[in-house]
Amino acid sequence: MAAMSRQSPQQRTFEREQRMNDPCTCPSCGSTWFREETFNQYRKETYSSRAGGDLEVISEMPQTLRVCLCGRPLSPNIGGAGHGGATPSEQMTSFKQSLKFALNKLDGSTTDPVQMVRSLVAEALKQGDFAAEFDKMGTRVEELGNLVESFTAPPEK
Ligand SMILES: [Zn+2]
Repeated sequence: MAAMSRQSPQQRTFEREQRMNDPCTCPSCGSTWFREETFNQYRKETYSSRAGGDLEVISEMPQTLRVCLCGRPLSPNIGGAGHGGATPSEQMTSFKQSLKFALNKLDGSTTDPVQMVRSLVAEALKQGDFAAEFDKMGTRVEELGNLVESFTAPPEK
């Protein structure tokens, strides 16, 4: 306990730096390797049929995100200095909104938690071991039911 306070400032600085060098971890899968991906907004419709017309970027500032091996994007440190100049906040809001949609989709979270639990259970029931266990459990419950019935049923005449 007292060891904490006896650390020298150098030691503390060292440990803080060590922590800062810890790789960031994906909240979904625990992986620590990411790629950098640049995101833009593209025009919905092209009026001409010229090639590459659908690749016309309409957002002013590309957004770079770290994307995990599993495909999950990490929420960026939005806000604060670094971009230089005024932040087009409308686009920032739009980007954050889009990111939220994507993360919700990845997390499988709908607005209805009951729906979410149902889909989780349905998925779990399809797993081999679980399905077998569940069958066994069903038999067991039936046995227990019979047992309870035998206790509560009026004696046969
Ligand atoms: Zn991941």
